[in-house]
Amino acid sequence: MNSRSLYGAIEAGGSKFVCAAGYGPLEVADGWREVIPTSTPEATLGGVVAFFERIRKEAGTLAGIGVAAFGPVDIDRRSLTWGCLLATPKAGWSGVSLVKPLQRFGPVAIDTDVNAAALAEARLGAGKGIESLAYVTVGTGIGGGLIAGGRTLRGMLHPEMGHIQVRRDPRDEGFAGVCPFHGDCLEGLASGPAILARWKVELRSLPATHPAIGIIGGYLGQLAAAIALMLSAERIVFGGGVMSDERLLPHIRETARRQLAGYLPVQARAGGFDRLIVPPALGDRAGIGGALLLAQQAGKQRPEDTTG
Ligand code: ZN
Repeated sequence: MNSRSLYGAIEAGGSKFVCAAGYGPLEVADGWREVIPTSTPEATLGGVVAFFERIRKEAGTLAGIGVAAFGPVDIDRRSLTWGCLLATPKAGWSGVSLVKPLQRFGPVAIDTDVNAAALAEARLGAGKGIESLAYVTVGTGIGGGLIAGGRTLRGMLHPEMGHIQVRRDPRDEGFAGVCPFHGDCLEGLASGPAILARWKVELRSLPATHPAIGIIGGYLGQLAAAIALMLSAERIVFGGGVMSDERLLPHIRETARRQLAGYLPVQARAGGFDRLIVPPALGDRAGIGGALLLAQQAGKQRPEDTTG
C-alpha cells in the first residue's frame, strides 16, 4: 500500500478530456491516464466517471480532484453555477457542470486550462523561484492565465487577455479578423484560424521571408508588453500550437522591447527579454500537472470550504 495521497486530474478541452491520477503533479502512473473524446456531455462525463471509478477500485480514495477547463467557465466558488461552463460555442455544453459528477470522488477544484498551465509552469517549470508569471496559449484561440503571489488570478470571470485590441500592422490592412465578438481583437488577428483565413496555410509552411511571421509575432509582442505593464509579470510563457513555429518568439521579444522603449527595467535584469519571454518548460505536461496542483489545493481545503 502506498501511504501518500493520490490525486485526480482532468484537462477538459474542446476536442478531448484527458483524465489522470497521480501522487504528485508530474507523477502520473502508467495506466492511470486516459483520453476521452469531447462528444456529448453525457458520453464524455460518463467516461470520466468510469475512469475515476476504476482508479478508486485499483488504488483507493482520492484526496482531491483538479479540473483544468476550457472556457468560459464559472470558477467563482461563491456562485450558484460554480464549475459550470458558460455560453460556449461547443454544442450542448453550455451550462453543463464539470464539478458535480466528480464530487462523489472527493473535494474538487476547478480553474481554466491556461490558469492551470500557468500554475504548473510557475511552480515546476519556467517560473521556478519567482512570484508572478503569465501563460499565454496561441492556438485555435488565444488565452492567458496569470499567477500572482503564487496563486491564479480570477475575478468577475477569469483573464481573457486574448481579446484585447492591438495596433494594426500596416502590412495587414484590410483583414476583418475572425473573432465572432470583436472581429480584429488579438485572437481575431493572430490565432490559428486567423492565420489560415489570411494565408490559407499554417504559419510554419511559410518561408522565413514571408511577412506573416513578423506580423503575428508583432501582435503577440504587443500582448507581452501589455502584460509586463499591467501585471508586472516576471515571466511570460508563450505556448500552444501556433507557437510551435520557433521563428515567432524573437519577433515577440523584439516588439515588446521596442514598445516598452526602456520604460521597465527588463534589460537591467539577468537575461533581459530572453528571460522575460520564454517557451514553456513543461511542454504538454503543464495542463495535467496544473490540474494535479489544483487537486492538492482542493485536498487541503477545510470541509466547509468545499461545499457549494
Ligand atoms: Zn475577441
